[in-house]
Amino acid sequence: MGIVYKCFKLFFINLSMNIIELDKKYIAHTYQRFNIVIERGKGAYVWDEEGKRYIDCVAGVAVNNVGHCNSYVVREIKKQAEKLIHSSNWFYSKQQVIFAELLTKISSLDKVFFCNSGTEAVEAAIKLARKFTKKKEIIGMEGAFHGRTMGALSLTWNKKYREAYSPLLPYVKWVPWNNAEEVERKITEKTAGIIIEPIQIEGGGVRIPSKNYLKELREICDKKRILLIFDEVQTGFGRTGKMFAFEWWGVLPDILCVAKGIAGGFPMGAMIAKEEVMNSFEPGDHGSTFGGNPLACSAGIASVNFILKNKLAESSETIGKYFIEELKKIKSPMIKEIRGMGLLVGVELKEDARKYCELLLKKRVLTTPLRNVIRFVPPLVITHKQINCVVKAIKEIL
Ligand SMILES: *Cc1c(COP(=O)(O)O)cnc(C)c1O
Repeated sequence: MGIVYKCFKLFFINLSMNIIELDKKYIAHTYQRFNIVIERGKGAYVWDEEGKRYIDCVAGVAVNNVGHCNSYVVREIKKQAEKLIHSSNWFYSKQQVIFAELLTKISSLDKVFFCNSGTEAVEAAIKLARKFTKKKEIIGMEGAFHGRTMGALSLTWNKKYREAYSPLLPYVKWVPWNNAEEVERKITEKTAGIIIEPIQIEGGGVRIPSKNYLKELREICDKKRILLIFDEVQTGFGRTGKMFAFEWWGVLPDILCVAKGIAGGFPMGAMIAKEEVMNSFEPGDHGSTFGGNPLACSAGIASVNFILKNKLAESSETIGKYFIEELKKIKSPMIKEIRGMGLLVGVELKEDARKYCELLLKKRVLTTPLRNVIRFVPPLVITHKQINCVVKAIKEIL
């Protein structure tokens, strides 16, 4: 009683002048934002509120693979929004089965659980691995990043993210990167599975596995009858030059976690698994109110179809190769190493990269730092001409 909720319309009209101040006042301080307010986007470009244009090599952190406001995806979202935005997983949904079939076709796996983010896909994978194997222990990689909720956080390596929130999940073991023998040694009769990002990005600064590592893990998992879980939340949907990064090594996981680039910027995630494994989930074992709602599925169907039809994985490979070639021509004492696959590229510097991302921002190129690595994950629709502009900007700041 007594509280009157007013319409704050007038207040919002004045907002644009102080967005950064108001952000500090009203938003949890969990992000180290760059000083720019993004207002709109198209393809690989975004514009700030003053109308300044930037080439976006962040793409919402490897999310906008089909480009900002992709016309086809926007049209499909609009169509679905006018028909049905949300129903419930209490009822059947046409969009959900269409998208699930599409995801199984492109992943060579069998069944899908829909959720709303990467970390939720990992949570679902942990639960499924325990349910299927009736075992508790998960082996994770040093340097791994799997998300921020308590389960996924338990398998995230960086102590800074974990320390204040213990106790986390027990029965987690760590192994060093690229060391299959150590993995085999760590497996016990309690082990349910191994979780790994085929390419470590957040924790590894774009760390690519040695040629046989994933294959060796697959063999160990088969031998020991435990599950191999791939977290392709960031590497999926054409990012590395294949639809999924695991195709590069010809290794199929038992469980695949995806999100980020799945639905053209619409929040969505999925956990995809082999039939036998997924069938251990029974009604009530897991669920999500929003997971796989018709609007998200329509955005996903449109995005994945756009990627397939326009061969964005292939162009990611060719443009990514060109990008790395051009980067390698830059002579700078600051550069330690340039590495990447497709349009997932890291430029490792000899010092912290944040300052250099700030300088690139001034040159109208958006990037994000991974400690001493500048990460480039542009929309896969980026053109050679736009890449040339990015390379020129990097040359200037280094
Ligand atoms: C981003 C990311 C996550 C977490 O995804 P959210 O959607 O932010 O929860 C998990 N794993 C990897 C590899 C990621 O890159």
